[in-house]
Amino acid sequence: KAGSARVLYWFRTDLRLHDSPALAKALALSPKAFFPVFNFDPHYAFEQAVGARRFRFLLESMQDLSDEIRKINKNSQLLVTRGDPRRRIKELCEKWEVTHVAFEEDHNDYGRTRDAEVRQALEKAGIEIVSCEGHHLYPIKEVLKKNGNKPTTSMSAYQKAISSLGDVPKPTETPKSLPDPLAPGSDKVDMKKLFQLVDDLAPLNKDPGPPEVDVNHEKHGGQRHGDVTLYDTVAEKESDPFAVPTLKSLGMDEPQDNMCKPIRGGSSVALKRLDDLCKDPSYLATFAKPQTSPSTDPDAPSTTLLSPYIKFGCLGIRYFWHKTKETKKKHKGGGVTDIPEGMEGQLLFRDMYAACEAAIGDAFHGVRGNSMAKYFDWYLPDAYDDKGNKIVPRPRGDEESEKRLAAWESGTTGFPWIDANMRMLRQCGWMHHLGRHSTAAFLTRAQCFISWERGAEVYSKYLLDWDPSSNSGNWMWLSATAFFSQFFRVYGLATFPAKYDKDGYLVRKFCPELKDVPKKYIYSPHLMSDAEQKQAKCIIGKDYPAPILDEKEEKQHCLDRMGYGYKQKLMGDAKEVMNGSAEDK
Ligand code: FAD
Repeated sequence: KAGSARVLYWFRTDLRLHDSPALAKALALSPKAFFPVFNFDPHYAFEQAVGARRFRFLLESMQDLSDEIRKINKNSQLLVTRGDPRRRIKELCEKWEVTHVAFEEDHNDYGRTRDAEVRQALEKAGIEIVSCEGHHLYPIKEVLKKNGNKPTTSMSAYQKAISSLGDVPKPTETPKSLPDPLAPGSDKVDMKKLFQLVDDLAPLNKDPGPPEVDVNHEKHGGQRHGDVTLYDTVAEKESDPFAVPTLKSLGMDEPQDNMCKPIRGGSSVALKRLDDLCKDPSYLATFAKPQTSPSTDPDAPSTTLLSPYIKFGCLGIRYFWHKTKETKKKHKGGGVTDIPEGMEGQLLFRDMYAACEAAIGDAFHGVRGNSMAKYFDWYLPDAYDDKGNKIVPRPRGDEESEKRLAAWESGTTGFPWIDANMRMLRQCGWMHHLGRHSTAAFLTRAQCFISWERGAEVYSKYLLDWDPSSNSGNWMWLSATAFFSQFFRVYGLATFPAKYDKDGYLVRKFCPELKDVPKKYIYSPHLMSDAEQKQAKCIIGKDYPAPILDEKEEKQHCLDRMGYGYKQKLMGDAKEVMNGSAEDK
C-alpha cells in the first residue's frame, strides 16, 4: 500500500536494480512518488581523468538502467541532471517536494565529505536520508571497526577483520515495480512539468559547479566540461528533458574500436555475462587467477571481464559472490579453488583495498602522508649501494624518466610484451591482471624505477574498470611499496609471457609490425640478426623501436635501490615525506 513518502533515489556507482540494499530500503517506505536521479557531478568531469571509453561505458550503463526502470514502470525513467550535488539535490527536493533522499554510501574521502554535506543540508530542510553500503561484500565501516579503524594491510588481516561478521549478506530482491515520478500536487506523470519546475534553477544543464570543488583539476591538467549541455539539440531536450546524454553532447569524440569489440556497459550485459559464465560450473569452481593466461584480450578473456560492471555497480557484488558459491556447488569434479586464488578471493582483495582507502583517506593514492606506503627514493637522489657507491639518481621529472614514462604509456618501449599490453589498455580499456603485473613492475621496481603514482595516474585515464582503491592498492603491491615485499621477484620480459604463450598472440595483434617475427624472437625481436629482421619485414629502430633500456642492467640497478630502501626501511627524507612536508627534488 502506498504511503505518503516522495523518494528521490540518487544513483551513483550503483547503476542497477538488483542486489541494491539502499534501493530496497527506499522502496520499503512504500513511496507515493519515486524519482530515480543520476546527477553529473562536475567534480569528475575532466577529460583526462575520465577517458572517452570509460565515459561511453558509463552512459551505456545509465541508458541500460533507464531502460530497466521503464520495463517495470512505463511512466518512469532515469532522470539525468547536472550540477554540484551539494546544491542540486536540495534544489530538486524542494521543487519536487521530496520527503526522503536515498543513496548507496561511498567509502572514499570525496564521497563521504560530499554526502555528509548533502545530508546536513537536507536534514536542515526536514528531508530524511535513507542510506546504507552496498558496493562491497561487507560494509566497509564494519570492517574498519573490527580492525580498530586501521587499514587491513594483508589478506589475513582482512579475513580476521571479517571473521566475526558472518557470511556475506544475501543480495536483495530486484523490484518488480517502481512508483511514478509524480509532480507535486498531481497524480499524473508529466516529465515536462517536472523539468519546468527545475529548469529555472541556475541552468540545470550548464552549471559546472563552484570552482572550489575542482580539487583534481591541477593534478590531471584536464579540461573542464563546464560549458557543455546535456543535449545535442534543443529538440532533443524538449522531447525528453531528462534523457541520458550522448558522448557528443558531453564534448567527447566517439572512441574507435579497431582492435577489439567494444565492451558494452549496462547491468543487463553484466548479468548475461555472469549467467553465461555460470553455464559451465567448472569455470568458476576451478578458477585460479595465477593460472589464467595473460595472453588474452577483451574479445576472449581468460578471466571474467566483469570488473568494469563491478566498478560502476552494474553488477551487485553480493549477487556475484552468492552466485559463485551456488555455481561451485553444481561442479561435480575436484579441484575447487579457494581463497585467495579462487573467485571469492578476488572479490575479497577488492574489499581489502577499499577498507585501506577508507582508513587512510585520499593519502592512500600517493606517497605523501600515506602511512602504508614504504618510501623509496623514487625521487630523491641520495641512495648508496652496499659498497657506498652513489646509485644514479632518477628524480621525478628528469629527462630520462619522462622519456621512459612516455614510451611505456604509448607502448613503444621496444619490449613487445609491455608494448602489446599498454596498447591494448589504450585501445580497448582493459588488461589481464598479469599484464597489469608486468607493466606495473616494469615501470616501477623492475626496470624504470619510476614512482607507482605516475603509473597509477596513466591507468586512471584508460581503464574502464578504474577504481581508485583497487588501482592504488595494486600499484603499491606491484611496486613492493605495500602489501608485498618480495621485490627481488622480477618478471622476465621475454621469459614470463613465453610461459603462457610461445607464439605471442597478443603481441602479433597489438604490435602488427611484429606479426611476421619468428616465435623464437617474438618477445625479444631486437635479438634478430639483420637478415632475420629483413625476412620478418621488421627493422628494429625503424619499424619497431629498439629497447629503451638494457633489461639486465636496469634490473640490477632497481634491485640495488630496492634492497637499499628495504635495508634502510625508509629512504633519506622519509619522515618529512610521510608528514607530507617534503617537496619533490
Ligand atoms: P577476474 O579475475 O575475473 O576477477 C573478478 C573480479 O574480482 C574483478 O572484476 C575485480 O572486481 C576483482 N578483482 C580481481 N583481482 C583483483 C585485485 N587484484 N584487486 C582488486 N580487485 C580484484 N581492478 C579494478 O577493478 N580496478 C582497477 O583500477 C585496477 N587497477 C589495477 C592496477 C594494477 C597495477 C593491478 C596489478 C591490478 C589492478 N586491478 C584493478 C585488479 C585486477 O587486475 C582487475 O580487477 C582484473 O584484472 C579485472 O579483470 P576481471 O574482471 O576479468 O577479473
